[in-house]
Amino acid sequence: QDNVRNKIIEAHELAAKFYHHILNNTVQGEEAKRYLIERGLTDKLIDQFMIGYAPVNWDVLTRFLMNRGFDPKLLEKGGLISVKNDGEGYYDRFRNRIMFLLRDRNGKPVAFAGRIIGEGQPKYLNSPETMLFTKSRMLYNMDLARSAIKKVKQIVLFEGYMDVIKAWSAEVHNGVATMGTALTEEHCLLLKRHCDEAIICYDGDSAGQAAAYKSIPMLEHVGIKVLVALLPKGMDPDEYIKTYGGDAFRHGVIEQAVSVTKFKLIYLRKNHILSREEGRNQYIVEAVKIIAELDSSTEREIQLKELSKEFDISLDALKQDCHEFRIQQQ
Ligand code: ATP
Ligand code: MN
Ligand code: MN
Ligand code: MN
Repeated sequence: QDNVRNKIIEAHELAAKFYHHILNNTVQGEEAKRYLIERGLTDKLIDQFMIGYAPVNWDVLTRFLMNRGFDPKLLEKGGLISVKNDGEGYYDRFRNRIMFLLRDRNGKPVAFAGRIIGEGQPKYLNSPETMLFTKSRMLYNMDLARSAIKKVKQIVLFEGYMDVIKAWSAEVHNGVATMGTALTEEHCLLLKRHCDEAIICYDGDSAGQAAAYKSIPMLEHVGIKVLVALLPKGMDPDEYIKTYGGDAFRHGVIEQAVSVTKFKLIYLRKNHILSREEGRNQYIVEAVKIIAELDSSTEREIQLKELSKEFDISLDALKQDCHEFRIQQQ
């Protein structure tokens, strides 16, 4: 079993080098390379993250690895190749895609995510789940981010591979991402072993906001303090960095991350029309509920005061409501 694992890792190591070489040194890889450079990646980043390109051919990787003595059954088990429909022979899983190598937290290459060049569906194709690759446990970049995370006891959680890589180029070295799937309890437990604080930096669209809303209690449940970094409407971290640069991202987004309460209030605000009396009243009631969740009475008072000022309501009334919500929540 250990032997099979090692062989699958070895195959991924070779495949990664192969795809990386095709991207950097061949005519076939030129379009993909141009695309990556256009998106703001540098040669250094492409090397560090071992990005590659899987050509259009049906079986280049299959032949390359079989020529090196790999058993196709093992390669299939590792998710690199698939059995043909008629059961005769094999073909490459990834074709005509930019290849992001997925390394486990010890730096061992165990899977790939392949992105289509430009527009098209599916945008990303991941390796299947294998004995070495479990999506619910994998965090992209955990291997490279580990030492930075250890130092600052904090992680930054992104949605996408590109976000992690671009953030890295902006000197945010403690960034990781899930595999396009939701954060799991396993992820949280793993993170808890390495950090005390997480900054959620998801895409600035409604999907990203909703995902942040779901991730917050999960992280808090394992004892991680959560902050949320806010992006302009519709932008993801990668686009933000491309548009405004790395310094703006660090100082204007990551360092400005807000508390969970602030984030929830901002989120709540978006869903109510404050110019109408009904929307305003609903907002205030819901806002007090959110504030009631705060453990510290000082914090509660600060937030209630702000609310009281903004909507010209007596602080006493808000405090009374807040108190009642706290009793209900218990
Ligand atoms: P890019 O910047 O290359 O367009 P992205 O990370 O911004 O990619 P999103 O659409 O925001 O892409 O999706 C976030 C993440 O979700 C991706 O990085 C990827 O992990 C995952 N994902 C997106 N689309 C798919 C898909 N069709 N199949 C599997 N995973 C996907
Ligand atoms: Mn998105
Ligand atoms: Mn995105
Ligand atoms: Mn993006």
